[in-house]
Amino acid sequence: MAEKRWISETLFDELGFRMTYQAERILYEMQTRHQHLVLFQHKHFGKMLMLDGATQVTTRDEFIYHEMMTHVPIFAHGRAKEVLIIGGGDCGIAEEVLKHKLVRRVTQVEIDASVIAFAKEHFPEFTRPVFRDKRFESVIGDGMKYVAKTARRFDVIIVDSTDPQGPGAVLFTKKFYAACRRCMAPGGVMVTQNGVPFMQPGELVSSIRHFKKLFADARCYVASIPTYVGGHMAMGWASKDRRLRQTSLRVIETRYRKAGRFKTRYWTPEVHVAAFALPRFIEDQVRKA
Ligand code: SAM
Repeated sequence: MAEKRWISETLFDELGFRMTYQAERILYEMQTRHQHLVLFQHKHFGKMLMLDGATQVTTRDEFIYHEMMTHVPIFAHGRAKEVLIIGGGDCGIAEEVLKHKLVRRVTQVEIDASVIAFAKEHFPEFTRPVFRDKRFESVIGDGMKYVAKTARRFDVIIVDSTDPQGPGAVLFTKKFYAACRRCMAPGGVMVTQNGVPFMQPGELVSSIRHFKKLFADARCYVASIPTYVGGHMAMGWASKDRRLRQTSLRVIETRYRKAGRFKTRYWTPEVHVAAFALPRFIEDQVRKA
């Protein structure tokens, strides 16, 4: 019997730290035009996708990140119709967005067609409901170019990107955030995958610094995702309307009830409101930015 392969996440090599997972089976591996992609079966985390040595999604804990990146901005906004997803090729975010019946159109701009093709094969639980929903539009292309050129305006922009390396690096620049502001509708909000502050403080500080120059409200909220190692994950928050983040628990509860109280496994109205209460060390990073 061949020895099972151990697969390392190399994202934190500079910090002298590696998470390594024993693969029960390698399900898929290739070098795409943009990045190295490996999907393997893990006995505890289920299917795990890594791009360029960074864990992207696992079937066991995906619900935490996907629900918090989606339901927080949409319920805070309260009347979102046009939603833009940058990245998100596994379609986990799109699947959550489409649970909101008020949303009229969801546009996903993913740079790597191979990620979507392979997600159709290996993550049907995301892709099947998404690709059969007429409100969903899939665009293959660079998110930077799309937001710089589009004539459309979006109520909610969700940046479900890789880390600031390779094709994802441009999605953490001031130029990109300024272009997102340009195609954001009045009263709109953008949320961003912004890393794990304990391990990647520079990533959050840099984004918040740009947000403060470009948006009325610049902040982040947090959640803990087991395979995004290092404690709280930060989700960047940039809005043209300061009031969205102050939306009360009672109003969030009412909006959730009107949305049909669809099933969630992490997000609740209470968790939503609490997620903006930041631990002091993250609060300090946000203030200093
Ligand atoms: N949740 C994951 C995380 O937090 O690391 C991200 C998941 S999603 C798979 C990330 C996607 O962003 C990848 O499919 C990648 O191809 C895409 N991506 C990276 N750079 C991009 C760019 N410039 N424009 C559009 N999509 C991009």
